[in-house]
Amino acid sequence: MNQTDLIVITGAGGFIAGNLVLYFKKKGFANIRAVDKKPLYDWYLRVPGVEHLCLDVSNEADCHRVCEGAKEVYNLAADMGGMGFIERFRVECLRSVLINTHMTEAAYKAGADRYFFSSSACAYNTSLQSDPNVRALKEADAYPALAERGYGWEKLFSEMVCQEYWHERGMKTFVARFHNVYGPHGTWDGGREKAPAAICRKMIEAIDKNDFRITIWGDGKQTRSFMYVDDCVQGVDKIMHCDDLIATPINLGSSELVSIDTLVSKVEKIADRKLKRSYDLNAPRGVAGRNSDNTFIKKVLGWEPDTPLDKGLETTYGWIKDQYERRKAGEHVGIG
Ligand code: NAD
Repeated sequence: MNQTDLIVITGAGGFIAGNLVLYFKKKGFANIRAVDKKPLYDWYLRVPGVEHLCLDVSNEADCHRVCEGAKEVYNLAADMGGMGFIERFRVECLRSVLINTHMTEAAYKAGADRYFFSSSACAYNTSLQSDPNVRALKEADAYPALAERGYGWEKLFSEMVCQEYWHERGMKTFVARFHNVYGPHGTWDGGREKAPAAICRKMIEAIDKNDFRITIWGDGKQTRSFMYVDDCVQGVDKIMHCDDLIATPINLGSSELVSIDTLVSKVEKIADRKLKRSYDLNAPRGVAGRNSDNTFIKKVLGWEPDTPLDKGLETTYGWIKDQYERRKAGEHVGIG
């Protein structure tokens, strides 16, 4: 890539794409177009020197405008959230199929060299995730398919769209299956937040209100791995520029497996406070266990996401606390 080539990043008012814009800007890229349907006012990050467009990429005409002149396209826009959102709003999740469908075509018509799609571990066969002591998921475990209803099936179909744009039309496409991502500049309240951000916020609220009762969704024994966002954006860059990975979905996740109860204990340690836990067994909780098998990424890239959860969580807690206090003081902060 020439540093003046145009990079297009969609979903940039949101969490991961916002961090990706920052990452490429810091790397010295001069022409970055950041796109989101949210009003600019609500974006988590607005990076100086970047072109900001507020457009809806589920609309085909907008996608052509978005991809004009692009050398590389990173499509991270999706209607998504944590389990509370994806179990409740399956239609919205499925409708994200319009985004990737129109974006691949627009990128192809614009003559983009490379196209990146952010898939998810929710594309994996759910029957392999029914035990907290789960075997880590490897790339082949997506088929035979039994993806997460709604969100997971949309991802699986969109992966296939990417693969066929390479096989039939020769556009270099890249697909990463993100496992849970956490870190600063992402959703921490409002209903779309994921477990790490939700637990940090609940602790901050507990301290603020001096009420240390906390409700945990599920029995606390569900297991997950959590990838720090800096690892995620670095991984996206590495995957996008590895020709061995053209049209080849790959895990991008941490392999540090923890239970939700352990996650809560880590937040307690950071805040130096204890919470009174109760468990809501009727709340959305997703699969019983999920981890990322990183054999393939280590083999092909000689690298894997490795920020320890303790370290990433501390930074995330500090950022959410700052956002919470700013909002309490009447300042407008980004929203999901
Ligand atoms: P996010 O919700 O913070 O960001 C997504 C952004 O896309 C939002 O700002 C939203 O406004 C925007 N968007 C939605 N529909 C749009 C449209 N039609 N036009 C323009 N913008 C639109 O989510 P995120 O966590 O940053 O996720 C980014 C990508 O990574 C998504 O594709 C998501 O499915 C995938 N992913 C995320 C995780 C995770 O743990 N965060 C895990 C697996 C996969």
